[in-house]
Amino acid sequence: MPEVDPFVSYSFRPFRIGFCSERPTQADVFEMAALSFTLWGGRYNPIIDIGDLDEARTIVRQYACDLLFAFHTSKAVLDFVSSFPELSWMDFQQSLCDTREDTPIPVFFDLVSCCSNFIGTPDAVEWLHIPPDHQAFPSLALVFGILPSTSARMPLDYNSLLAQSYHPKIDLAGDELPQTPCLRISELGGRAIRLLPVRRDTGVFIGDVTNPLLLRTFWNTRAAGISATLFDPTRPAPFLPWIARQVARLSSGALERSRYHLWTEEPDRSEVPPGLRAVLSPLTEGLVLADWAHALSPSAPRHLNRIHGPKSKSSLPRVTFSDSGAILQFMPDVPISAWQSSGAEHFMLEVRGSAHANHSRSISFRPPYMPTANQHLARTMGVLPKDHLRTESDGLALISEPSQRIVRLRGGFGDELIADMFRPAGIEAALSDKGRYTDRLIRHMGGLQKCRAFKIPGVRSLIAETINNAAITAPYATQRIRGAVGQVTDLDRFSDLVLRAGQKHPLTSALVWDYLLRKRVFLPGAELKCEECSLNFWLSIDDLRSVVTCTYCAAQLVVGPLLKSNLDWKYRRSPLLSVDASLHGSLPVLLTLQQIHTLFPLDIIAWSASMDLLLSDGTRCETDLAVVTAHTFHPSCLVIGECKTTLEFNGNDLRNLRNVASCFNHTGIDIYIVFSKLAKFTDAELTLIRALSPGLRDKVILFDVDALEPYDAFQEAKNAVINMEGLARASAAAHAY
Ligand SMILES: [Zn+2]
Repeated sequence: MPEVDPFVSYSFRPFRIGFCSERPTQADVFEMAALSFTLWGGRYNPIIDIGDLDEARTIVRQYACDLLFAFHTSKAVLDFVSSFPELSWMDFQQSLCDTREDTPIPVFFDLVSCCSNFIGTPDAVEWLHIPPDHQAFPSLALVFGILPSTSARMPLDYNSLLAQSYHPKIDLAGDELPQTPCLRISELGGRAIRLLPVRRDTGVFIGDVTNPLLLRTFWNTRAAGISATLFDPTRPAPFLPWIARQVARLSSGALERSRYHLWTEEPDRSEVPPGLRAVLSPLTEGLVLADWAHALSPSAPRHLNRIHGPKSKSSLPRVTFSDSGAILQFMPDVPISAWQSSGAEHFMLEVRGSAHANHSRSISFRPPYMPTANQHLARTMGVLPKDHLRTESDGLALISEPSQRIVRLRGGFGDELIADMFRPAGIEAALSDKGRYTDRLIRHMGGLQKCRAFKIPGVRSLIAETINNAAITAPYATQRIRGAVGQVTDLDRFSDLVLRAGQKHPLTSALVWDYLLRKRVFLPGAELKCEECSLNFWLSIDDLRSVVTCTYCAAQLVVGPLLKSNLDWKYRRSPLLSVDASLHGSLPVLLTLQQIHTLFPLDIIAWSASMDLLLSDGTRCETDLAVVTAHTFHPSCLVIGECKTTLEFNGNDLRNLRNVASCFNHTGIDIYIVFSKLAKFTDAELTLIRALSPGLRDKVILFDVDALEPYDAFQEAKNAVINMEGLARASAAAHAY
């Protein structure tokens, strides 16, 4: 059984709910905001207008929505919501309250529960109420929070619920915040309880505050954690005091120093309106002019929009093994003594587990970040019901509730997790026979990094030479490993290579041979000459006895007289390495996997040797390897590829992998294509790569023998190789394509 050093950290966070609407009016935006403010973390729920489908889909991914709520129930909105089956949840009936019983129960962890769990009765404070007739209502309502009146969409009366929970309301009058602390429901904390992240960027939105697009963009920008304010140039007076307050906090250093943005509708007219100029004068530096559309560029890294809950905890989980893999189990501590809940209110339980990439078949408790594969990955990782899993850039989140006492996750094998990633792309993938063979070899050696001896050309020659059960002597083996050519030997390049812990330096051919024997790559035995048929036959040390049977004529032979005074042990290749056709392809595959693992030891969450692929159009092909990396600051990458010993790649190899890669468009996965070989690439091969379109060429990574044999591939570009993108660039530079 593989040894696994389990590690789990977890935290609780609110749901990220995308409020889906169609051409929302000003009143709609305020109602969606008010509904959001009844929820824990509601401030971070984006408002989506499906009028622009591309933008709408981008927002769902950019904000990493866990669920979509149809605020408008038109067919177009409902169709949009159901076009994200991976964000569906059976228990969520498109209603924020469960009204099946007499008393409505909030479906999500709500404002009242937050107050009782995070603030507590002794700290009760008055909550700040923004009267609808306040002059700066459009800005203040969206910044400080407003509550909905009871309606079909919200049967609960949060105004009275909040008063019952010791938080009576206080009306905001004029331009000053009350002197005594007050609860701002947008932050759910009058006592500086910051549960969710706030970004450093800040600024002011300039425009007509009756324009629903401005209000929605303003809301969404704040939902990304940016602390912005509003300014209406047609009636500046009500808005200026609040901008002045923000500028004062910036200047006094109360806010972290950051760039101050001026967001306008038309970038051409983006000069500072009179009236605003004086207020902004303390910010002599760092003023940035931009248009609304760029407040949240679709290319902004997704992690910027991630939300996290209160601080995470770690746990030493129990891990049990069975034939079907590893099961991890732990009991999450409830955040504050015990959740006080008024019913079955749900939140997300984020789990960050570990991956074990050095194991054969790799076991991972960390799925790739691929929302479209949520339900497939849930099945592999044993999450039930399967619509309870959401993959995240640094782990996963489970739909949870206060009564959940135990979390159980199955460690997915690399090839299983990768097959789950292929499914949303319409490809059936499964470990091939060749892959199983490579996997068995890696398992026998003890993991990817225990296969380093195969980097040495002399070792590969020995393996190639001992095909057909040829037997060799130890002196011959060490000489081949050394690969003596004049003064400098082949092995000198590997003097720093570490094969096993505690090994002496520099690496000698005797140490390499010793390692191959320890790993039983070669088995000792003796070659005896039969007295009956005069043929030489080999017997392993396990079969060597005082009386043996001739392999050819079955004669019974007494061994004593057959031994010369100095018995030369003769070594044969282990039967493990004797499936010649498969082995031929295994070495470049495992060396390529090993090099990628060496480059990104912490980022690899799963890998697999060769997989058979069946595309939705019926095409069959294969990938010789698959590697998945995940990184908090980058999208998950999937690497596929073709590995050869010395044969040339051709247009067909390239076409197959290119077709596979194109199936991953719009899946949110960054896909890379590796070509590797234990020789140099020919001009013909490089010409094929150079002929690719630039977008595709940027995704190609070449490993030739000079990149596979050293401990570090692309050593000269090492500092730039921090991710797959950097690796692809280093490869392009090295091979000039
Ligand atoms: Zn014989």
